[in-house]
Amino acid sequence: MLSSSPTVVRSSAALAHIEVDVPALRRNAAQLRTIAAPARFAAVVKANAYGHGLAGVAEALEREVDLFCVYRAQEGHEIRARGIETPVLVLGPVTPSELAGALEAHLAITLWDTQGYRDDVIRTARESGRPFPVHVKIDTGVTRFGLPAERATAALREDLREPALGLEGVFTHLAAVEELESAFTTQQLERFETALRPLESELRRRGVRKHAAASAATMLFPELRLDLVRVGIATYGVWPSPETQDALRQPINLEPALSWRTELIVIQEVPAGTPVGYGCTFSTARPSRIGVLPIGYAEGIPRAASNRGAVLVHGRRAPIVGRVCMNVTMVDVTDIPQAHPGSTTTLIGLDGEERLRAEDWAAWCGTIGYEIVARLPAEIPRVYRAE
Ligand SMILES: *Cc1c(COP(=O)(O)O)cnc(C)c1O
Repeated sequence: MLSSSPTVVRSSAALAHIEVDVPALRRNAAQLRTIAAPARFAAVVKANAYGHGLAGVAEALEREVDLFCVYRAQEGHEIRARGIETPVLVLGPVTPSELAGALEAHLAITLWDTQGYRDDVIRTARESGRPFPVHVKIDTGVTRFGLPAERATAALREDLREPALGLEGVFTHLAAVEELESAFTTQQLERFETALRPLESELRRRGVRKHAAASAATMLFPELRLDLVRVGIATYGVWPSPETQDALRQPINLEPALSWRTELIVIQEVPAGTPVGYGCTFSTARPSRIGVLPIGYAEGIPRAASNRGAVLVHGRRAPIVGRVCMNVTMVDVTDIPQAHPGSTTTLIGLDGEERLRAEDWAAWCGTIGYEIVARLPAEIPRVYRAE
């Protein structure tokens, strides 16, 4: 028999909320921008600004960046809908039916096709009477999108000759900087430079920007910064990888901008030997107080954190016990006597002296901080703290 008397204290309010520290975001951007200078600074705001909320982040950084990079045209339109006129580059594929709208909204697109799609782009530009801003992407080793490096010189020569294309940039993406694979990175840069070398003076004359670096490369390798850096994860104060952080010769202070909180809704007082959750994967070793959170894997808590992760309650760590359920998660608050239904519970962020970072969740779950923040559900209300 369980000696419990659970009381649900709240059912209608938002089950969780996310707070974004706007000054922290701006300080990160300013710091990274300074590191990268004289290269221009692009903030990557794809995937709902890495879970931080696209519109709010775009508004926060509008004046700190030279360019926003998004993945889909729709994200570019969301930025424009806020009245933001900062240049935008769409990194991912734009469908032929989206081209006219993208040009209308002054979104630069990524071009890597020499065939039918390129013709669509040119036709769209001619119909509207102005060149289509494009960045040409060269694949040097990710094997995803991009012109094969061997064909890039010829293709770019054609693009430079085509008045319907406003060539603004040429770029590549690096595969393994986060893992510190410097030999592979050097090879990628070499392929990129070899493709561009015959066109170097013309690219310079036309002001075409060369770019390759994302967060890790921007922080670690000055020779990869080129004319522009595309910084995503570090802008949000999350490290690309533990290796990146360890390899830095000059420490950079990245401030996590996001806090994610919920509250305890129930406390169960149970004797030793009580199983907790599906599969009975956890059993109490002593008389315990088990706190119940109103969110589970459907609301963004990774199930992989079952019996591994922790949350903060009254400034102390409360371990996740048992399996994370679809809409519920249980935590052990036995050592936190003040814990009560209604206690604020921090999943990511600061509580007293303790902080949990996206990187902690990544370590518990065998993934990267990127996935932890990018998968935070869009429905969680985001609040932007300006002070
Ligand atoms: C996502 C992305 C970036 C940003 O990467 P971070 O590691 O988050 O800085 C840069 N360039 C391209 C092409 C991307 O897709």
